[in-house]
Amino acid sequence: MSKKNRIRLYVNADLYSGGTVVCSEKQVHYLLNVMRLKVNDTVYVFNGRDGEFETAISECGRKYCRLKVGEKFKAFEKCPDVWLLFAPLKKDQTDFTVAKAVELGAAKIIPVVTEYTSASKIRPERLEEIIIEAAEQSRRQDVPELMPVVNLKTLLTNWPADRVLFYFDETGKGGDAAGVFPEHKGVAALLVGPEGGFSEKELEFLRDMPYAYSISLGSRILRAETAVIAGLSCWQALCGDWRRSL
Ligand code: SAM
Repeated sequence: MSKKNRIRLYVNADLYSGGTVVCSEKQVHYLLNVMRLKVNDTVYVFNGRDGEFETAISECGRKYCRLKVGEKFKAFEKCPDVWLLFAPLKKDQTDFTVAKAVELGAAKIIPVVTEYTSASKIRPERLEEIIIEAAEQSRRQDVPELMPVVNLKTLLTNWPADRVLFYFDETGKGGDAAGVFPEHKGVAALLVGPEGGFSEKELEFLRDMPYAYSISLGSRILRAETAVIAGLSCWQALCGDWRRSL
């Protein structure tokens, strides 16, 4: 198997050459039954802090698998510091949105309840699994943090002064992404509204907030999950790690 198609697992253990990793039950099933790996086969592991290491299966049985940690393969690197704030959607749409946000490099994911949010609950355990799977698949080194659901107004009232907030305004009154994003480089957060959109009161509050800038994603109304993908993509291209010259 080439390094490009390498099998990557997220683990909790500290990682260093010569160490050992004990796989979870789910990982044992994946490695032995799904991928049909055997003793001495290579698995890459990362833990969101020490970088990525090459390991080899040292022992395995029906229900266990140990990995011997070899050389460091990649140094630890964090994604650019951009948070995603989004209103929970229906189950599958939330799962999809979170997976795409991880692939697109969101550093923190914050579900927010707005006035017109239709689903105010999330399933944190399921979303954590989705986050880890997307981090493994996308070969990122860090794993974004999933925050508990919070009321939008509460979050904005205690907003950190050093973080620019870009909110996507579907009413057509926002600025151009290509102009507004690069004018406010640095640590950022992107806020996408619910299927019902933002209320007039919320938009007023956002307009009055220092460090908050409205962005339009064009004249077509996008589904919330599409707006998340479009917003993160534009930010990565203009201010994040899709732009190598920064
Ligand atoms: N119910 C709203 C309406 O009919 O106008 C549409 C809400 S849209 C499905 C969900 C969220 O995606 C919006 O609150 C906004 O944050 C974002 N969004 C969708 N289209 C957008 C656009 N063209 N420009 C900026 N944001 C957009």
